[in-house]
Amino acid sequence: MKNWKKTAEVAIIGGGIMGVSAAYYLARRGVSDVIVLEKELLAQASTGLSVGGIRQQFSNPANIRLSQESIRVYERFEEEFGVDIKFRQVGYIFLARKEDTWNDFLSSVETQRQHDVPVEVLSPEDIKQRWSYLNIDDLKGGTFGPKDGYADPYLAAMGFATSARKFGVRIEEKTEVTGINIEGGRVQGIETAKGSISVPVVVNVAGPWGGEVARMAGSDLPVKPYRRQVFMTKSFDAIPKPVPLVIDQDVTFYFRSEEPGIIMGMSDPDEPSSFNLNVDRDFLEKVIEVAIHRAPVLEKAEILRGWGGLYTITPDDNPIIGEVPGVKGLFSAIGFSGHGFQQAPAVGLILSQLILDGQTNFDLKPFSYGRFDKKDQEGEKRVV
Ligand SMILES: Cc1cc2nc3c(=O)[nH]c(=O)nc-3n(C[C@H](O)[C@H](O)[C@H](O)COP(=O)(O)OP(=O)(O)OC[C@H]3O[C@@H](n4cnc5c(N)ncnc54)[C@H](O)[C@@H]3O)c2cc1C
Repeated sequence: MKNWKKTAEVAIIGGGIMGVSAAYYLARRGVSDVIVLEKELLAQASTGLSVGGIRQQFSNPANIRLSQESIRVYERFEEEFGVDIKFRQVGYIFLARKEDTWNDFLSSVETQRQHDVPVEVLSPEDIKQRWSYLNIDDLKGGTFGPKDGYADPYLAAMGFATSARKFGVRIEEKTEVTGINIEGGRVQGIETAKGSISVPVVVNVAGPWGGEVARMAGSDLPVKPYRRQVFMTKSFDAIPKPVPLVIDQDVTFYFRSEEPGIIMGMSDPDEPSSFNLNVDRDFLEKVIEVAIHRAPVLEKAEILRGWGGLYTITPDDNPIIGEVPGVKGLFSAIGFSGHGFQQAPAVGLILSQLILDGQTNFDLKPFSYGRFDKKDQEGEKRVV
């Protein structure tokens, strides 16, 4: 192919938020020859289909740290990248119906406070007083993170991509990676639909396809794609603003405002692993039932549209980050189990540190490849 450069210092497989964030941090550190390969268009897979939630309320300290580092970047994103990502710190409220869930919340709050997370513990009556549209009849209580909120993932990815390009990163869309060449336990290069590239460092940030890309290198990642459906209402102003991101944890239902309407979703415990993105009307009926139970005023809302996106899930709902054991030069950051948008700035930075310095200050033990064999690693409980 004409103009196809056959060498690079680092090749990044996947042009979602992880890929462009990693490219940006590498290029900012002076790596001049980084290429991002995207089989479709930038940020149109999980990143573009995400709900954009950003929070510090996690149960695992390692996730809290990833979010804190990322929030620092998102708070000053416009200054650094020149893009307003519409970061609205309107808060996240987690609601517990069951006693066990409530006890888990209280134990998470202890961990969160040890890590300086601003979080309030609320009784059902406190909740009613502040958000009178919520039904509290079956609640044990809730926790509120006032600095949590949401932003626009597509705009954030475009901000990283534009700045990365300014530092010289090449971004090749419509370019599928079809193979990874390894010799003597070391990455030598990749095969793409446009030609091969000789490259000593390859980063697998292929999101839901991360398992398939890993297999190109003969490696097995315990990650699977699962559909998650999201629904948006027509213009709806019966809920007073600002509307926090409300999570009804025991049924994994959530909603928040998405001007001029409301956006909502829920996990389906019967959903099989697949790449299916279709919207299922029967499932929508279940979501509406739960929505009306939690916020009865939503009965008046009309659904405008829905879409399906893919979560990439690991057995403990924590990602796998690091160099692939036994394959020098191959790094991955896969399996964000619904948290990848908010963790992308920190993960991009970590990948750049691992690649350039061979180490990072972040505790990556909970995200290691080997953890699934050990009994003492605790995953993430705050998952929807
Ligand atoms: C409905 C929904 C709601 C969500 N809500 C939130 C939320 O509120 N907060 C949050 O933090 N996260 C949320 N997430 C999760 C978040 O969207 C993901 O964790 C994040 O976008 C992952 O980014 P990524 O770059 O790893 O993957 P992706 O955005 O999926 O990007 C991977 C890219 O790799 C490309 N690719 C794959 N294989 C190849 C190949 N062989 N060659 C070239 N390119 C390839 C794909 O085309 C894709 O563009 C949500 C996800 C969904 C689906």
